[in-house]
Amino acid sequence: MPRPILATIHSAALRHNLERVRQAVPDAKLWAVVKANAYGHGIENVFEALRGADGFALLDLAEAERLRQLGWRGPILLIEGVFEARDLELCSRLSLWHAVHCDAQIDWLAAHKTQQGHRVFLKMNSGMNRLGFPAARFRAAWARLNALPQVEEISFMTHFSDADAPGVDTPGAVAPGQHGIADQLQRFHEVTRDLPGERSVSNSAATLRHGADAQVRCDWVRPGIVLYGSSPDYPQASATEWGLAPAMTLSSRIIGVQALAAGDTVGYGSRFTAEAPLRVGVVACGYADGYPRHCDTGTPVLVDGVRTRSLGRVSMDMMAVDLTPVPQAGLGSEVTLWGRAGSGALLSIDEVAQAAGTLGYELMCAVAARVNKAVD
Ligand SMILES: *Cc1c(COP(=O)(O)O)cnc(C)c1O
Repeated sequence: MPRPILATIHSAALRHNLERVRQAVPDAKLWAVVKANAYGHGIENVFEALRGADGFALLDLAEAERLRQLGWRGPILLIEGVFEARDLELCSRLSLWHAVHCDAQIDWLAAHKTQQGHRVFLKMNSGMNRLGFPAARFRAAWARLNALPQVEEISFMTHFSDADAPGVDTPGAVAPGQHGIADQLQRFHEVTRDLPGERSVSNSAATLRHGADAQVRCDWVRPGIVLYGSSPDYPQASATEWGLAPAMTLSSRIIGVQALAAGDTVGYGSRFTAEAPLRVGVVACGYADGYPRHCDTGTPVLVDGVRTRSLGRVSMDMMAVDLTPVPQAGLGSEVTLWGRAGSGALLSIDEVAQAAGTLGYELMCAVAARVNKAVD
């Protein structure tokens, strides 16, 4: 028998979350963002459920090839564009749309020999200062691209740094982490106002929080995290409050039980000390499975669908949980690290991530290759 840890990918939840985004922005087209191997879920595991999207957005050329192999003939967008000139050959061959965010990418296109007209998303750096042409150089970049015979269609994109920010959302200086989207949105629309072409600005947080505004939803939205059922702005709103369903359950079983006396400790570093007699379940899940080592005692876990807590340090292959709230649990009992227990009880990945000082994004992407995946 293999180790009992398993990541189950829920097709119905993926479909539900896609529909949830559709409802939020019914007149926008939707790029399902499946970068990082579909946020750790596996592109082949999510493809069928998400094929109702208008296109798939990702950034790894090998992942784009896999989508074509799976039979997707619709749009695929490389959101970082190509990494070197010869990547354009694959773009032509697989009809990939690609972002253009720097001059070198325009140079490569200008030198690229192709019969196939390319569709590009010209990317503006509207304030995040990651990828894209700054507003002042954006129109010059557009003019260069527009003059290229290799280019068939130019669309426009930008990316928000603070779409999940609480509070303030009006233009002007505010406290760090509270910038909202107003400044970037204004800059983007000012500079692109009279340019012909489609537009895309919104990630998950912008789509759900501000998608009612036509300037925000534009022609295409680019949701990622919400498709997988994690909240885009936890803890302001939970996934359940957003009407999202977890697309992944990470489950395992108890493979050992220890009876602690008062004063006994658990795990490396003896970071947890029992104050009274305590039953401890040892779970087949550790940081080599992608579970965050960073969370100490108190991270929520479900045992037989009942909420309890982790105890002490997470080891490479194991972790300990408190069995006090589930006295009937023992060897073989079901453990839900996140997602949905057999009983239907939910444990949000966002809550686990918060206990580990990170985000649901990181946890789902980090599920290790050694964890088997099943699709239901
Ligand atoms: C990752 C990414 C998205 C999706 O972001 P979420 O927060 O997961 O919705 C959208 N656009 C770009 C450019 C991205 O890199």
